Amino acid sequence: YAAKEGRNRWSVYRSGLEQASRSRLERVQDLRQALRENQLSLVYQPILPLRPGFPPKAEALLRWTHPTRGPIPPSEFIPLAEAYGLAPTLDTWVLKQVLRKMPPEPFEVCVNLSTLSLQDAHFMKWLTRAVQGERRDPTRLHLEVTETALLRDLETARRHLEAVQRLGVRVALDDFGVGQTTLAYLNRLPVDLLKVDRSFVGGIGSAAGEALLAGILSLAKGLGMITVAEGVETAEQLAWLRRSSCDYAQGYFVGKPGELGQLQASLAKARLTTHLP
Ligand code: C2E
Ligand code: MG
Ligand code: MG
Ligand code: MG
Repeated sequence: YAAKEGRNRWSVYRSGLEQASRSRLERVQDLRQALRENQLSLVYQPILPLRPGFPPKAEALLRWTHPTRGPIPPSEFIPLAEAYGLAPTLDTWVLKQVLRKMPPEPFEVCVNLSTLSLQDAHFMKWLTRAVQGERRDPTRLHLEVTETALLRDLETARRHLEAVQRLGVRVALDDFGVGQTTLAYLNRLPVDLLKVDRSFVGGIGSAAGEALLAGILSLAKGLGMITVAEGVETAEQLAWLRRSSCDYAQGYFVGKPGELGQLQASLAKARLTTHLP
């Protein structure tokens, strides 16, 4: 056993070294190859409504499984794609998959947009046409953007987002609270949903943390936004969020990212364990 464990440790160590020693250029070439050779896939994480009458949602999350190096996390390859201008290509791939095969009714689906895509007029034009095309219901699609992406060029971002909102697509501000948005900006942004970063959910259980999170939720409510809490990992956090009139909960306690076909079952299980209708 020790020998086996030693070998595993060694291979983990070695693959770390390999990663580090491969230049960024080599790794972005790997990513281009991944796009060509079908190494990418999507998983979907359920987003549980905490209030009656709200439809469930699911967030599409990109996965890359390299044939020899194994799974490579988005935290590694998304920044790489951004740095090399490949992000709109990735986002196009994701949106095509999602639009071709939507989660089952009544799920709404959230797709992450990178900073580069949001600022890219060509990408946004393509997206508009893709959403308008055929007989898809655009109101079932949400686009998630970050504060960084919005603030890169606020006027361009606003123009692009308002254009997709006119189609019925809704906009979510992702990871809210850890970026550079000042509260003063919030009512000037074309945002329908606020996804509160999981660091705030981690504060549930401490008086100061709860005061902060309650403040964010009531502010979002006051601005007419739908609230989603990210990174919900415990029953206590979920109960607190329900009591505090948060609209949605997302996190490992509700359900981990998984296959499209698992969404219904994972939502049903979450409803059972949380005694939600
Ligand atoms: P995000 O958009 O904030 O997505 C949520 C991340 O938190 C996901 O990580 C998810 O697996 C993780 N997560 C969910 N519940 C919990 C929880 O209870 N605890 C903890 N600790 N984590 C939780 P993932 O899939 O590794 O994605 C990381 C980031 O990569 C995403 O953060 C998003 O910014 C980016 N990303 C993922 N897929 C795409 C994509 O298709 N396009 C773009 N542009 N970015 C993507
Ligand atoms: Mg997201
Ligand atoms: Mg997020
Ligand atoms: Mg996050």
